[in-house]
Amino acid sequence: MSLLTVQGLGKSFGGNRAVDGIGFSVAKGELLALIGPNGAGKSTTFNMVNGQLRPDAGSILLEGQELIGLKPREIWKRGVGRTFQIAETFSSLTVVENVQMALLSADAKLFSLWRRAADHRRDEAMALLSQVGMAAQAERPCSVLAYGDVKRVELAIAMANGPKLLLMDEPTAGMAPKERNELMSLTKRLVVDRGLAVLFTEHSMDVVFAHADRLIVLARGRLIAEGTASEIRDHPKVQEVYFGSGKTFEKKVPA
Ligand code: ADP
Ligand code: MG
Repeated sequence: MSLLTVQGLGKSFGGNRAVDGIGFSVAKGELLALIGPNGAGKSTTFNMVNGQLRPDAGSILLEGQELIGLKPREIWKRGVGRTFQIAETFSSLTVVENVQMALLSADAKLFSLWRRAADHRRDEAMALLSQVGMAAQAERPCSVLAYGDVKRVELAIAMANGPKLLLMDEPTAGMAPKERNELMSLTKRLVVDRGLAVLFTEHSMDVVFAHADRLIVLARGRLIAEGTASEIRDHPKVQEVYFGSGKTFEKKVPA
């Protein structure tokens, strides 16, 4: 049974149909990529699932329960997580403190309790950091970390309230190819180990084809294709919409 089931989802901005009646599902233990050209409606879709935007039409079911109409925090409590960039204000905290903050927030404790709660769920924070390969850097301030390592910590933070579904909108933006692949391998490991479901967007086709279990393709708010990497790679409609006719995914910028 699918964890998330989206049906007939629509959202317009003025006369612009940003998302035009799409449907898809995400299963437990699945890493699903949402791809498509700029302006296709990917972020709008994410923001409807996490409750930031209210859809005009359709339904979004998490384990059969309707999410539309719930506040973002309520949706988060039900198990839909998302990655956030570590805020400037928290970058002076150490890696492990940032994860402890996220655990505090998951417990709905107040930020003002932070000082008294300095040991709060430290073991759990360390366990999360181990999962993302960041335990050794736990005591360093986030501000001194390499970019790829910050992204690992952001992933640990997103895992703090034990989400069932994790939404990642362009998680590897600004990363070098090697770091992109590492972050997605790590994400895939979490998907397998924890039975997590992940919906992510990504620009690099190499990364998508290498790591996603399945892909859905949006163009101008419509879902134009769905399938495995090889099915999508050979899909004429995808090649046409994504790259213009005649081009294929294999064609890169000439040397
Ligand atoms: P993607 O993430 O695939 O690049 P978006 O979901 O951001 O696409 O945007 C889809 C379409 O909706 C675009 O035409 C964009 O200009 C428009 N759009 C997105 N957000 C807003 C908004 N808040 N107000 C008006 N138009 C928006
Ligand atoms: Mg976007």
